[in-house]
Amino acid sequence: MNHEPFLPLVPITSWREFKKRPLVISGPCSAESEQQVMQTAVRLAKTGRVDIFRAGLWKPRTRPGNFEGVGSKGLLWLKRVKDETGLSTATEVATSRHVYEALKYGVDYLWIGARSSVNPFVVQEIAEALRGSDVGVLVKNPVIPEPALWIGAIERIRSAGITKIGAIHRGFATFEKSPYRNFPHWLLPVELKERIPGLPVICDPSHICGNRHMLADVSQKAMDLNFEGLMIESHITPEKALSDAAQQLTPEALLLLLQNLVMREAESDRSEYVRILDDLRQKIDIFDEQLLDILEKRMKVAGDIALHKKENQVAVLQSKRWAEVVRKNIETGKRKGLDTDFITNLFRHIHQESINHQTRIMNR
Ligand code: PEP
Ligand code: MN
Repeated sequence: MNHEPFLPLVPITSWREFKKRPLVISGPCSAESEQQVMQTAVRLAKTGRVDIFRAGLWKPRTRPGNFEGVGSKGLLWLKRVKDETGLSTATEVATSRHVYEALKYGVDYLWIGARSSVNPFVVQEIAEALRGSDVGVLVKNPVIPEPALWIGAIERIRSAGITKIGAIHRGFATFEKSPYRNFPHWLLPVELKERIPGLPVICDPSHICGNRHMLADVSQKAMDLNFEGLMIESHITPEKALSDAAQQLTPEALLLLLQNLVMREAESDRSEYVRILDDLRQKIDIFDEQLLDILEKRMKVAGDIALHKKENQVAVLQSKRWAEVVRKNIETGKRKGLDTDFITNLFRHIHQESINHQTRIMNR
């Protein structure tokens, strides 16, 4: 791969479709019929709040036997959407053939799905096919929470000379029990924004939630974190959708969700605001220092325990004691209004490091 500097990214405010934050991309998970596509698009256009119409034509299903999309014939439907509603269009591409066909039919944005962005071979094949085109490309986060893969996928697209690029945060697969279909790991898209300044990040609450009832909260969270856009799936009869039925909204329900979003300013230089924010941030910095002091002290005690165990030839890990520690801290955390998942994860990390530290001492 070449490492010459990339061309600058087109700021989202210069995208033809952008009217105001959030840029809204909506449409069905899958194009199912010409009538379903056209009716959805007309109702979405009527909301006046949708900028880009999405529909999957080639569907990457996790398991075979599910609806795999209508394929190339849907490209004509997307063209009709554009001609008759004026909405720009977007679809998913996973092979060079998808790219060539979508470009031939004038699709405005191509997105790379989470099952493709995880694979550098696939992304490179797509990048080669994109070379020379000025289409917009949206790169979904890879299914696994590995920042380098997401950044790498974006770099491959940039290397092909594409400059209108957005990242789509659609959450990450997880084995852990969670209310989300794909766990958001909010820090990852926030760090991505820091690593690639000027890269618009669009949240996809549909695939994060996997259900309708959490969409509004996740969309609001994305706005509070200053994401530039939202991609939300919509369908004329969501419960009858051939894919992702549980998470789609009617166009009218989408409008309601958008109207209820509270948009806060990303920055403000009002002096009173700045003064109070500085005070509060100073407090946070102090607490962070105290947290680190306490962790240092805790680790020292863990080391003393390791020495004591070594002298008495006892193993590092005593699961019963640890289960008790976690239970007790979750209880205490609850009384303090701290989230159970948060406390469990926090102590899992502390315990892991404590074990590493003790093992190092035992083996000295
Ligand atoms: C989609 O947007 O319908 C889709 C398949 O997305 P993802 O790659 O995020 O699963
Ligand atoms: Mn979907």
